[in-house]
Amino acid sequence: MNIYADNRMLSEGLIGGTVSRHAGDMRQTANQNEVFGKLGIPQDKMLRFHQIHSDKIIRIASDADALSLLSRPAQDADAWIFSCGGWGGVIQTADCVPLFLWDETANVFALAHCGWRGVAAQLPYKTALAMKEAGAQGLIYAWAGPHIQSCCFEVQEDVARQFSVCSVIHKEGKIFVDLNAEISLQLQLAGLTAANLKTPYYCTCGDSENFFSWRRDHIRQNLLSFIYKP
Ligand SMILES: [Zn+2]
Repeated sequence: MNIYADNRMLSEGLIGGTVSRHAGDMRQTANQNEVFGKLGIPQDKMLRFHQIHSDKIIRIASDADALSLLSRPAQDADAWIFSCGGWGGVIQTADCVPLFLWDETANVFALAHCGWRGVAAQLPYKTALAMKEAGAQGLIYAWAGPHIQSCCFEVQEDVARQFSVCSVIHKEGKIFVDLNAEISLQLQLAGLTAANLKTPYYCTCGDSENFFSWRRDHIRQNLLSFIYKP
């Protein structure tokens, strides 16, 4: 099992990243818990929601918020924002972008499930703004984990027109969307500086050894991404 993560985030005391497919299909909670067990993360502190490719954000600002969430059936949402320690959040992807954000003090941190629909709905932008409302201090940093890259993300015109022209690539009669470019644009509009955004080129669709990919395999198997602050 490999964990893809940003050292800047880890050095701030956050634990998180995207786990390679070797750890199994993360639609199974038991597989998630096995990963958390190996990392020494308390399983009962990791929160889950029901992903719907939306712009809905859940904020956890206190133990009470987390306990309230745990007492109810899984809520519909696609992004987590935490402004308290002791809890973490989980998302699942198989081509969508796991977008990690944290502020300079690492007291406010976020993890968003950004499929193309979520990106088109401005979820990266809205998450960064909501972090500021949640009390983010100083600079905000961002890291986009493994997802389908522009080499493989071919779309039709109806999808392409939902993105800014600079994120759309026309090549040999085909149309591709560069989600990294679109996310970077949104985060810069939200006030982040380009130097604080990292979008490494790990393509879930192109790397079958390490990643599940819905686009490539058409099999429902998901990768795990998580963020946690002890
Ligand atoms: Zn690719």
